[in-house]
Amino acid sequence: MAKFNMTPDELLNFQFGAPNVGWMEHKPVFKEGNFAYPGKADVIRDLGFPNPREWSPLDEDWKLPENWMEIVRDGMKDRLDRYRSFKLFMDICVRCGACADKCHFYIGGGDPKNMPVLRAELLRSIYRGEFTTAGKILGKWAGGRPLTMDVVKEWFFYFYQCTECRRCSLFCPYGIDTAEVTMIARELLQLLGININWMMEPVRNCNRMGNHLGIQPHAFKDIVDFLCEDIEAVTGIRINPPMNEKGHEVLFITPSGDVFADPGIYTFMGYLMLFHEIGLDYTLSTYASEGGNFGLFTSHEMMKKLNAKMYAEAERLGSKWILGGECGHMWRVINQYMSTHNGPCPPKMETPVSPITGTVFRNATETKMVHIAEFTADLVRHNKLKFDKRRNSHLNVTFHDSCNPARGMGMFEEPREVIKACCDNFFEMPAQTIREQTFCCAGGSGLNTDEIMEMRMRGGLPRGNALRHVQQKHDVNTMACVCAIDRATLIPLADYWAPGVTICGVHELVANALIMKGEQERTMDLRQNELPYLDESAEEDA
Ligand code: SF4
Ligand code: SF4
Repeated sequence: MAKFNMTPDELLNFQFGAPNVGWMEHKPVFKEGNFAYPGKADVIRDLGFPNPREWSPLDEDWKLPENWMEIVRDGMKDRLDRYRSFKLFMDICVRCGACADKCHFYIGGGDPKNMPVLRAELLRSIYRGEFTTAGKILGKWAGGRPLTMDVVKEWFFYFYQCTECRRCSLFCPYGIDTAEVTMIARELLQLLGININWMMEPVRNCNRMGNHLGIQPHAFKDIVDFLCEDIEAVTGIRINPPMNEKGHEVLFITPSGDVFADPGIYTFMGYLMLFHEIGLDYTLSTYASEGGNFGLFTSHEMMKKLNAKMYAEAERLGSKWILGGECGHMWRVINQYMSTHNGPCPPKMETPVSPITGTVFRNATETKMVHIAEFTADLVRHNKLKFDKRRNSHLNVTFHDSCNPARGMGMFEEPREVIKACCDNFFEMPAQTIREQTFCCAGGSGLNTDEIMEMRMRGGLPRGNALRHVQQKHDVNTMACVCAIDRATLIPLADYWAPGVTICGVHELVANALIMKGEQERTMDLRQNELPYLDESAEEDA
């Protein structure tokens, strides 16, 4: 794996501007560090996807099937017939340029083909050349070009430099969603066996074992038990979360990153402590042990399949509704695609009602699924939780709006309400970098792999710059978020662009401040670090 060792000054040593040749003639240069590694043959074979093989983008020959052109043309025609949005996005762009400077990869790297308008044009030009009369007759004078092997290579290069964050779509007067163009382009590449392993292996694991990390049921249970021991060490309270139990009102599903990796585990411990304190009637599941859905980045069919599992498990266990953890793209799948893909929820599921406050979550009438930040914000509004904010008083906190909960479901206020309820010191990053305009962590859509760290740090520049601004202005030392991928990707981003800032989930902050009935005096936070305010109090007493 290429080692990334550029300093920020070296990384920023580029110029914005047009290349010397026209964009159709300008070819990407593959080198270690600027592409994610291809899907391994055994992984692709296990999934039953086409053309499993060992190959490298550095090779001249990508070992495609002989009839690859026919496969791409047929695949494109099929999708133009099936997805009205795709046909529209191919037809209606007027090249106004409103989206051009809105992509974090363009801002951090200056490559014109990372302008959303030009990224989509990589596919649109083939649509024109192959499927429109004007393009067939006039060729490039009508914006068309022929399908060649160089085009396929260029697609792989640039459609895997798009995190499907949808920031560009916010600024498009026609509502063109370049993320959906990327999704279709990746599907076409899939037909040829062109994909990346960081995306395909989690999909294989989820398809086979119910979660991206491939955690088997007994291991899942062991990890949860282990985390409960840590909760007991901090609070003196022993929690025994129900697992695979039938007849509970709520099925709780969260990304497997929360169960497995630091710092997600502290967020997961936070969920368990909250549920214990309010006496929630819930169960976990070792089968639906993943909220995330890398199918979103793979193909519509795979997204549909992985989504269905959560509802099948809710039906099997007889749960009325699903409470979902702090995840990003899980919520985009739920809010934008679930109903279209899988139709109505199982008939016995009900519109979610908080058993603690009686609030009816009408926004979840169709999906029967509530985001934990909505759920906890409702508890806060009804004064159902007691907090000792002094335990978080050493933290100056900002909030990163994760792209999918923000732009995919419009969730802006709830996490902020929760953070302010349990922390005294909260500071917003600049307005043009938060809420619906939030900047991506640059590692979403399967790109959170270390082999492309240079690209991630380039794409992470706008978020890092905003973070550094509040770090310098308000001494911000903590960035909270509601997404498992963010909790992983923002750590190197912060270390690079704003060293000294720690990343955490919102429910880690909640649990640290939460006063639980019967708890021992807390001296440590969930990371088992001493609570600084106790020292300060002791000094004041002396
Ligand atoms: S969806 Fe995000 S990453 Fe993709 S082109 Fe638009 S702004 Fe860039
Ligand atoms: S903002 Fe919309 S119409 Fe304008 S160039 Fe971008 S995609 Fe095309």
